[in-house]
Amino acid sequence: MESQSHFEVAIIGGGPAGMAAAQVLGRQRRRVVLLDGHQGRNAAASSVHMLLGREGMTPEGLVLAARRELAGLHTVSLLLTEATNVLVEDSRVLVSAVAAGTICADFLILATGVVDVLPPIPGVGSAYGTCLFHCPLCHGFEAQDQRLVVLGNSEHAAFMAAYVHDRISRDVELCSNGKPDFCAGTRERLRRGGIRIEDRDVVGIRASAGGLALLMGDSTVRTYNAGFLSTRFRQGSPLPHALGCCLTDDGRVQVDHFQRTSVPRVLAVGDMAKAATAAGNMTFVATAVASGVTAAAYLDEDIFAKTWDTQGS
Ligand SMILES: Cc1cc2nc3c(=O)[nH]c(=O)nc-3n(C[C@H](O)[C@H](O)[C@H](O)COP(=O)(O)OP(=O)(O)OC[C@H]3O[C@@H](n4cnc5c(N)ncnc54)[C@H](O)[C@@H]3O)c2cc1C
Repeated sequence: MESQSHFEVAIIGGGPAGMAAAQVLGRQRRRVVLLDGHQGRNAAASSVHMLLGREGMTPEGLVLAARRELAGLHTVSLLLTEATNVLVEDSRVLVSAVAAGTICADFLILATGVVDVLPPIPGVGSAYGTCLFHCPLCHGFEAQDQRLVVLGNSEHAAFMAAYVHDRISRDVELCSNGKPDFCAGTRERLRRGGIRIEDRDVVGIRASAGGLALLMGDSTVRTYNAGFLSTRFRQGSPLPHALGCCLTDDGRVQVDHFQRTSVPRVLAVGDMAKAATAAGNMTFVATAVASGVTAAAYLDEDIFAKTWDTQGS
């Protein structure tokens, strides 16, 4: 790859994690390029919750507000384009991008996010983010005491239904879309807790202003105000895999305390990354921002420390 421009840090992914890293580095006047494909994970949601000082803002509004702040930092270049390839050499990183040719940087921060894997039920995509969510913690408050459904057939789905019943609404049903995978003991615990289990097949999902309708295999329709989906996610970009980054058991890029990956010169932040010692998911806007700040603060000091050491020798 022929290099066209040189930066101290290239950041791929301009969601909350990547932009937070860019802000910290830009404020230290580091030369930074931020590439973003503008497909944030929560784009379908109408509002962002649990972000102190920004409660209820739209995801797009949050991105645009952050971009306005970055525009004030003259050493930060934002490119709205997709990075297609990355090469890590001994002393530099080369990033290829659709609309920017090849970019050369000393370090790379990956912030490419994750993509939720939705069940193959017609209509699920249009409901996801409007009245069907993966995270009761983020979107439960707005659904309190309403008629709710948890969709899924795993032990995790059963756990989620029990959590929703305890924290959000007593009127909750678990829809397993066929025979549940959870054990008889779990089924009995749900029954004792007063959580109904609906195990008929779901053949379609309809979202409306009034809520969520599940179209069942026997042509009946079940309606709810909102629902939660027990789902999994995958990496948002093939780049971590192509770079050979070590992954955690749940497919996230394994990072250390400073968000460093197993690949020299490469850090990873946001939903896509996780410390080897961390349990659970914990994928929130605030945690994404925090990891971006951590990586950038570490990198800024590390770059300076190397200069300091060279000057001393
Ligand atoms: C429906 C829904 C609602 C949610 N609601 C909340 C909420 O209320 N509160 C909360 O705290 N969390 C919420 N979340 C979680 C939240 O969206 C994530 O935790 C957060 O977006 C993670 O930020 P990130 O920067 O890691 O990734 P993202 O926001 O996903 O950003 C990743 C960015 O990288 C870009 N990208 C990927 N590959 C490339 C590439 N090759 N080149 C260039 N750019 C690339 C993408 O286009 C995207 O812009 C919600 C999630 C969903 C699915």
